[in-house]
Amino acid sequence: MPLAVNSLVWFRQDLRIHDHPALSQACEFALQQNSHVKAVYFVTPAQWAEHDVAAIQIDFIERHVNLLRQSLASIGIALDVVHLSCFDDILPWLQQYCAEHQIGKIFAANEPEYNERQRDIKLIAAGIPLALIEQDCLLKAGTVTTLSGTMYKVFTPFSKAWKKIAAGKLIKPLPAATFNAPIGTSDAIKFNIQSHYPNPVSSQQWAAGEDSARELLQQFIAQDISDYQQQRDFPAIEGTSRLSPYLAIGVISARQCITAILFHYPDALINDASPAKTWLNELIWREFYRHLLVAFPKLSRGQNFNDLGKHIQWRNDKTEFDAWCKGQTGYPIVDAAMRQLNQTGWMHNRLRMVVASFLTKHLLIDWRWGEQYFRQQLIDGDLAANNGGWQWSAGTGCDAQPYFRVFNPMTQSSKFDPDASFIKQFVPEIAGWSLKHIHEPHLKAQQANLMADLFSDRAKQDKVYPMPIVEHSSARKRAIEVLAALKRG
Ligand code: FAD
Repeated sequence: MPLAVNSLVWFRQDLRIHDHPALSQACEFALQQNSHVKAVYFVTPAQWAEHDVAAIQIDFIERHVNLLRQSLASIGIALDVVHLSCFDDILPWLQQYCAEHQIGKIFAANEPEYNERQRDIKLIAAGIPLALIEQDCLLKAGTVTTLSGTMYKVFTPFSKAWKKIAAGKLIKPLPAATFNAPIGTSDAIKFNIQSHYPNPVSSQQWAAGEDSARELLQQFIAQDISDYQQQRDFPAIEGTSRLSPYLAIGVISARQCITAILFHYPDALINDASPAKTWLNELIWREFYRHLLVAFPKLSRGQNFNDLGKHIQWRNDKTEFDAWCKGQTGYPIVDAAMRQLNQTGWMHNRLRMVVASFLTKHLLIDWRWGEQYFRQQLIDGDLAANNGGWQWSAGTGCDAQPYFRVFNPMTQSSKFDPDASFIKQFVPEIAGWSLKHIHEPHLKAQQANLMADLFSDRAKQDKVYPMPIVEHSSARKRAIEVLAALKRG
């Protein structure tokens, strides 16, 4: 009788047991073979450092790997957490492991990023029995195309085509996998990567676990989704789902989110007036950027989507970049946003657009600097969405904000944080300023200059918060001149 072969599930950015096709298929394979399911997660600090993964995101991953270990143990599967350095170390490890444990097939989620795809191509070429399963997007990245089979370069027609295909599908998440009687687990696993991340950050403010993510989703859909269109732009209001940290590491799947929408709004895919339309569109943006990453591998390699971007003469002033990173630009809305990022690892979407526009347009600093800084701080760091958001803001991207459209930080401030409650939370040193001065800091600066001549002590007090780093109108004019390099033809 031939020896039974076991299956191995390789967990990546999919730290869940619900709606996990790779896990379900691995269990099915083992049941057919009357064999075992093994599971593995690779801790690869050098790779993470190369990809600028934020310490807070690694902390979040570590907490979820531990929870995943328990969930898998409850269905009789032991998760091996293996410490390697980078992707290159995986091949020899898998070769040895497969031989020792009679692994017949490895099940893992397909990933859209270039390095990850190259890693998998090399493993398969080297004879590793790796089956890549589509579970990252609702619709496999690369499958929503124009009639001529090319990738859409504008979001709206992409989203229409996406909805049409999705509406023709049965969208049903898989239940949590089941396999065997529970087994025990040893003590919690520590990643022990302090040498790469000297100041590990606690992410305690984000509840960990699939249950927490599903609860957040249910609560958002039941209570907030219909107000999302009106509330999503105001950072002082919790008007968005805050699911991004969970989606980024796959604690919850896009399919689970879309199923939850359809449960409450069954016609959301075909009715443009559905109250769920705007939030659904955000999930489609996520899929759009993933499609782009697969269709244009140059995006994973830091290149402009619009090749003309290489002609932009970025100023790249390091002192100004530093002021932007620290939230010391003298524009309260920009500074509050950057401090929210630095203190919590997360930033509201409206503010991501404001600070990215400010960096790339007002300061004319290369979007790649901002992209990297975001990645190093974000708990929801995700190459596709981050690159898409940065190139959209800089004007170099696919279906991007036109280069000549420069967000006015004063207007953004008064429109989206009218009573300055968000700003005051993160820039408390200006809480005593009038609303007019908070939204239009140059007026305050003018006043401070005048007062410096009259009362030097009071002027010193005002210096606690910096003067605006650039003047809006001239910076706007300069940006439009320099970014005209992006003008086609
Ligand atoms: P919700 O508004 O509730 O949206 C639900 C989900 O849809 C999000 O969790 C996210 O998965 C997806 N989504 C929403 N907006 C977008 C978008 N514009 N592009 C792609 N997906 C979207 N998102 C990340 O997940 N990781 C990043 O690294 C990231 N970097 C960004 C950088 C810039 C410069 C910009 C402008 C946007 C970036 N975004 C990123 C997109 C967006 O800001 C966040 O997804 C959103 O703020 C997360 O909050 P939420 O979960 O409450 O979103």
